[in-house]
Amino acid sequence: MSTPHVTLNNGITMPQLGFGVWQVEDDEAERAVKVALETGYRSIDTARIYDNEAGTGRALRASGVPREELFVTTKLWNSDQGYDSTLRAFDASMERLGLERLDLYLMHWPMPSRDLYLDTWRAFEKIYADGRVRAIGVSNFTVPALTRLLDEGEVVPAINQIELHPDLQQSELRAFHREHGIHTEAWSPLGQGKGLLDEPLLRRIGDAHGRTPAQVVLRWHLQIGNVVIPKSVTPSRIAENFDVFGFELTPEDMAAIGEMDKGNRLGPDPATFDLM
Ligand code: NAD
Repeated sequence: MSTPHVTLNNGITMPQLGFGVWQVEDDEAERAVKVALETGYRSIDTARIYDNEAGTGRALRASGVPREELFVTTKLWNSDQGYDSTLRAFDASMERLGLERLDLYLMHWPMPSRDLYLDTWRAFEKIYADGRVRAIGVSNFTVPALTRLLDEGEVVPAINQIELHPDLQQSELRAFHREHGIHTEAWSPLGQGKGLLDEPLLRRIGDAHGRTPAQVVLRWHLQIGNVVIPKSVTPSRIAENFDVFGFELTPEDMAAIGEMDKGNRLGPDPATFDLM
């Protein structure tokens, strides 16, 4: 089974459902990515700070899946922001991944207080112009940070990867993205598996479709147009999270989940987060 793809603002396509490897140690990431690729996932989301680019790269190379079928994302860590340091950090990530060319490079956080994201973005534009990455984007960017990037940068980010799940639906950012041709990618799409998946509403909707709460949540993301990258290291859940194309939520289901928005963040506030 293959996943639907979305078309990014520069014309390239990306699987709408991918696999995330945050908080997975290098060797375990290698095993989990192997299982994910065997299951059918073709898009993998890692980052410098996850410390598993090497394991991810080993699994990608060993899989035998043709490179052009894979979509690989990694992210620049905060302490590498700045023009020259970004160019060096990109080379180092590519070395660890063992790839010639990346599909998507994201700036992990804007860190507005440090005021380096424009210089950093210029380095992203250079890497893109040099053909070393097929698309560039950002993560955790707020409307003010995106507005400045759009005003002063050359390339419109293809993606903004943000915390997004039924408890934090990010309607303002999603509308801004739509207006500017930026695709929304949801991190922690399952709410990190914490309280969200115990919500009786999700269980009720799932029961009506013969599906689990996690599948209902992933289906909700897909139907509102998000790119999603759920994480699991458990093979049965890796399979369960991929098996979301054989059913559809009704308009009533979608409206009921839409009512769940509490504006609750699990992660830090991007307006102030500046951990290096
Ligand atoms: P997630 O919402 O994908 O939840 C993952 C957790 O949910 C798992 O550890 C497991 O405990 C549980 N789970 C997974 N599948 C399940 C299932 N079918 N049934 C029940 N429980 C299940 O959380 P995440 O890992 O935080 O986010 C996904 C990916 O997003 C990350 O791996 C990473 O790639 C990316 N991410 C990016 C940022 C960023 O700042 N850009 C931040 C966090 C995460």
